[in-house]
Amino acid sequence: MSAGAVEAARNILTRLHEVMASRSHAQAKLNNVVEVIGECLDSEVCSIYLLREGMLELFATRGLAQEAVHVTRMAVGEGLVGTIADNIETLNLAEATAHPDFMYRPETGEEKFHSFAGVPIVRRERAVGVLSVQHVDPRRYEEIEIEALQTVAMVLSELIVNADLIDEDVSHGPSAGQTGPEQLHGLTLVKGLAAGVAVFHQPRVTIEHVVAENTEAERQRVIMAFERMREQIDRMASQAEFGVGGEHEEVLETYKMFAYDEGWTRRINEAIDSGLTAEAAIERVQQRTRMRMRQIDDPLLADRMHDLEDLSNRLLRIVSGQIGTAAQLGLKRDAILIARNLGPAELLEYDRRRLKGVILEEGSLTSHVVIVARAMGIPVLGRVRGLRGFVREGDPLLLDAEQATVAARPSPGLVEAFEARFARNRERQAAYAALRDLEPVSRDGQRIAVMINAGLRDDVANIAMTGADGIGLFRTEFQFLVSATLPARERQTRLYRDVMEAAGDKPVLFRTVDIGGDKTLPYLRHDDGEAEENPSMGWRALRVALERDGLLKAQARALLEAAAGRTLNVMFPMVCEPWEFDAAKAVFDGQLAFLRQKKKMVPETIRYGAMLEVPALAEQLDAMASRISFLSIGTNDLTQFLFAADRSNPKLAARYDWLSTSIMRFLRRIVTSLEGKSVDLTVCGEMGGRQLEALALLGVGFGRLSITPASVGPIKELVRKIDVSEIRSAMQGWLAEPPPDLRVALIDWAAKRGLQLD
Ligand code: PEP
Ligand code: MG
Repeated sequence: MSAGAVEAARNILTRLHEVMASRSHAQAKLNNVVEVIGECLDSEVCSIYLLREGMLELFATRGLAQEAVHVTRMAVGEGLVGTIADNIETLNLAEATAHPDFMYRPETGEEKFHSFAGVPIVRRERAVGVLSVQHVDPRRYEEIEIEALQTVAMVLSELIVNADLIDEDVSHGPSAGQTGPEQLHGLTLVKGLAAGVAVFHQPRVTIEHVVAENTEAERQRVIMAFERMREQIDRMASQAEFGVGGEHEEVLETYKMFAYDEGWTRRINEAIDSGLTAEAAIERVQQRTRMRMRQIDDPLLADRMHDLEDLSNRLLRIVSGQIGTAAQLGLKRDAILIARNLGPAELLEYDRRRLKGVILEEGSLTSHVVIVARAMGIPVLGRVRGLRGFVREGDPLLLDAEQATVAARPSPGLVEAFEARFARNRERQAAYAALRDLEPVSRDGQRIAVMINAGLRDDVANIAMTGADGIGLFRTEFQFLVSATLPARERQTRLYRDVMEAAGDKPVLFRTVDIGGDKTLPYLRHDDGEAEENPSMGWRALRVALERDGLLKAQARALLEAAAGRTLNVMFPMVCEPWEFDAAKAVFDGQLAFLRQKKKMVPETIRYGAMLEVPALAEQLDAMASRISFLSIGTNDLTQFLFAADRSNPKLAARYDWLSTSIMRFLRRIVTSLEGKSVDLTVCGEMGGRQLEALALLGVGFGRLSITPASVGPIKELVRKIDVSEIRSAMQGWLAEPPPDLRVALIDWAAKRGLQLD
């Protein structure tokens, strides 16, 4: 903002402040406002249009015919005023009639005025009105005048809302109509359909006060907020925590660049000098940048713009003290959550009943937040670029994570079509539910074990709901992720006992904590506190557990005590070498000996197992076979290591196909090495829950799958429709002589048998 603009704005603001503080009623205030602005900007005309009942109505004017007040009304998108509201954009025209959207309204008597400038009055990112000025001379308004107008428009939005001049619903409800329907594409991470209103994980701050009482105090608030924000950014940069959200190096770099950008600070300070509060100044500068950026059509810049938006919002949240995420504010209606990325713990903070879907700008199929969402049955669409540019808080959304699209502000036709699909989906779900009591036996009589993956107490109910054969993977770290501090041993014991009790006769395979990777805990960090460059290949899972053996000891005791008198199934994650398995088992042996010595009741049987997630272990299965009762293949990690492709990296999310010859041959080798050994072999990665992938796994020789609960129905359906021996022999052929595309070969194979698989 130039010094002149600051001066002009301050002058107007001081006078507006007086108007607003006066005891007159709202209409009188508006009449005064147009006089003040007209005088200060030396304009013959100044008018205020406000959105009422979906129409922009002339509420006050200086210079136009007074008879037109509350009479002249136009739709959003109609005429110059309607265009400004529709696009939330400023217009500055030397000759109004030359603009294609110009529309003459005879009742206003505006024909003698040539120049026209108008700015939107914005509330919660929506135009709720328009402030315009007109001149007899055909001249464009100067930049400083436009800036002064924009600042005044912010003040007006406060006055308008405080005076109840517009329906508050209009300012955040879906019906404002400023922007039409929009459809965006992404990558399906968890299938499903959902409808709800857009809720931003990091909510936008609503600015309550625009005009400052004390400019110096506002300046101090901004200085402090900048300091805190910079601290936060620096901390993020030095902590592994930053990796949790999957945010990238480049984002962090841009954050840092903006956070320390002097131009940004200066502009905010100038806006404060003009008489705005700290919040209004930040928002004002942001609006200005947004408008400038909109004129530059460059996708790279648009990306950076989002980063700046993020940061500006962060600064606003700090300065206004509105720091929590949307989870803390609570979901009031059925909601679809929007975020750049989320950590699993952040997702779990939301009310499961109200959270209907998640849309991420990043995200990948096997990141843990997605696994958690899958377990919760919440559809997730990822990699929706530019999402926050199109969707605003409160917009109605239709999330179609079957066809990888999301519709914002959908037309009635689209809503109807969606309803029909919803109904079909419900029918399909009902058909799957009907399979609950039927066993997954193939046409050639093979009984496949279909179990579920779980991690939270509530998940156990899914055994009964799906008729699964038990819990093939209980991710014990979820309890750690949802706690603010390390869960005490007693709490762990209680959870494990409850889970086993709820599972009844069906087995539960507890996996000891797998933290690290994309599941970091703020209260458990590596001693040197350094962020890891490759956390999924770093200090995680058994590596942490063996080093911090207090953690594993407590968990071992909790599991042994919880399983007193029953069978305990325990498996260790990320085993790379047999000695790691031995070391972990020794911790259990130690605790068992302790309990025996104390004459405590111990489990009747203990079955130990390992997860095969690291390719190296596949080379030592001969040594492992005698040590373990079961082996579970964690394909999420295994495939990331086989392809050297980080499972949380959105850029790689769709690069490699699980149905690749390499993976299938690798898995086949594992099956072969354990043939004839008494080791239960299961696949518990996400791929087992997808019909086509499951078909391939059965073909490779697996007979046990542990999958997300929502997949039990579809997988049972698949098993019951196929001949396992037939797919095995087909797979044998393909692995010996690979087809050009294994996925296509499988689809064809299924199609020939009348199966349409997802
Ligand atoms: C896996 O890696 O496939 C697995 C099941 O474990 P997680 O997804 O928890 O790492
Ligand atoms: Mg894993």
